[in-house]
Amino acid sequence: MSLATELKSLLVCPLCKGELVFHEAAQEIWCRADGLAFRFVTISR
Ligand SMILES: [Zn+2]
Repeated sequence: MSLATELKSLLVCPLCKGELVFHEAAQEIWCRADGLAFRFVTISR
């Protein structure tokens, strides 16, 4: 199951508050402005 669209729209970069790019296959979220990648974990129920 992928992240909800509403959740994605709420998330911004913690550094620059900019838009984030989701790469769900790699379980990473990228900030292009900062050149940073954040890892996220999807919990299945
Ligand atoms: Zn950023």
